[in-house]
This record gives sequence, C-alpha cells and structure tokens, in this order.
Amino acid sequence: MQIRFEGKRALVTGAGKGIGRDLVPALAAAGATVVALSRSQDDLEALRAETPCEIIVADLADAESARQAAAAAGPVDLLVNNAGIARLEPFLSATVSAIDETLAVNVRAPFILSQVVAQGMIDRGAPGAIVNISSMASWGALADHAAYCASKAALDMLTQVMALELGPHGIRVNAVNPTVVLTPMGRRAWGDPAKGGKMLARIPLGRFLETSEVCDAVLYLLSDHASMIHGAILPLDGGFHVS
Ligand code: NAP
Repeated sequence: MQIRFEGKRALVTGAGKGIGRDLVPALAAAGATVVALSRSQDDLEALRAETPCEIIVADLADAESARQAAAAAGPVDLLVNNAGIARLEPFLSATVSAIDETLAVNVRAPFILSQVVAQGMIDRGAPGAIVNISSMASWGALADHAAYCASKAALDMLTQVMALELGPHGIRVNAVNPTVVLTPMGRRAWGDPAKGGKMLARIPLGRFLETSEVCDAVLYLLSDHASMIHGAILPLDGGFHVS
C-alpha cells in the first residue's frame, strides 16, 4: 500500500515538538504541501530548515488567534488537530486557569480550526479528511489528569458529531487515541520510572508508542485507503483499553 498526497495541502497543529514535529516530514515525504502551526517560532524555523513547509506561529489557546491561523493556512485538504497540553494537577486542587487552558487548546481549538477548514472545503466543493489526536486518556482515568481526560473525552465526541455533520460533504473525520509516547509531554508525565512502570504494566504489548507509529496511523486515516473509515476512535495503545 502506497500513500501519496500529491496536490494536497495539509495543516498540522502543534508541529514544533513531539508527534506534530514528526508528522510534518512524514506528510511532506508523501507529497503533501504542509503548513506547520505551533506556538514557538524557533521550533518552526528549525523544522522548516529541515523539511520544506510553510509555518504559522499562533497560540491556539486564544479563540480568535485559532480562527485567524486557520484562515491564514489557505485551502486545506488534510487537517491534523494535534496541538494539545497536559497540565497535571490533582482533581481537588485543579485550578481554573489549567481547566480553561486545557479545554481551550485541546477542544475549542480543534473545534474552531475544523469549522474554518471544513467550511473552506465545502465552499470549494472539495473532499477532505481531518484527524484529531485524542488520547487513551479519553476512556482511561488517569490520576492528576482530570482536565486532560475530560478534554480528550470531549474531543472524541466532537470527532463523532463532526463525522455526522461533515460526512455528507465528503469530509471524513476520525480520531486516534495514543498511549504514552515519550515526547516532551510524555516524558513530563511518565518519564519517572515509578509512574511509567505502572503504566507499562497496563499495556499488553509491554511498551510505549513511537511517534512513527502515530504518523503511520494518521497518514493512513488521511489517505484514500481509509475511504470508508469515518467517525472512528482508534486506539493506538498496545491493548491498554482491553486491560
Ligand atoms: P508535546 O511534546 O508537548 O508537543 C506539543 C506541541 O504542541 C508543541 O510544539 C507545542 O508548542 C504545541 N502547542 C501546545 N499548545 C499550543 C498552543 N496553545 N498553540 C499552538 N501550539 C501549541 O506534545 P505531544 O506529546 O507531541 O502531543 C501531541 C498530541 O498528542 C497532543 O494532543 C497530546 O494530547 C496527544 N497525546 C500525547 C501523548 C503522549 O504520551 N505524548 C499520548 C496521547 C495523546 P510549544 O512547545 O511551543 O508550546
């Protein structure tokens, strides 16, 4: 199976580090024109020095910035809502600022970006595909992750409603739900062997996920090889969900 995206324009959010940082070269290697969006300009400049891509610096925690960034991305065919944050706090002392920021970045931003991008597809009469990067945390309760877990559960349902409403326009929408990937975010939450070891013990395949494995699943879902896969919430978790 060969996945090619010649003639397609892809927008990847959270492209400065971690999973998004690897998605950009993967999409470019498959022939897509890629727009990389993130918060830190330095990260994006470094990425562009290695991989041909357009860059947009924006803070997706701000609704208007998210809307403007989506418009600035031009006529997007493939959207990956990858940017996300995890501010770890015990439930009883979780702060309003962490709750608000988490929901703004992890749920509201994909909502707004998808609205703008999908409207553009509909106006152009062009089909398209959207993949939301959710998490196993949408169904597996994790201590100190109340806002994060709630945001990813919301993102799963947003994915399904988008699938319902956008499917008739030829726009496919799916989510992938990774287990731990040792990106900067993953290392902060699970890098301590005392925590990481307990999580590993709950994964039947006995290891964490690699960014390349997330990229493979996302590229597949964006491609025509997944032409009848729509509204899926796909675990990338080594079997965590059955343990
Ligand atoms: P990461 O290493 O923290 O990288 C996240 C990227 O998103 C960074 O480039 C960051 O930019 C950007 N970003 C964060 N907030 C932003 C904002 N407000 N506006 C614009 N860009 C923003 O995270 P990751 O591990 O690659 O995670 C990517 C996605 O996978 C997230 O949705 C996450 O929830 C999900 N996920 C991760 C794991 C894991 O174990 N790593 C597991 C399951 C799901 P700055 O650094 O400049 O802020």
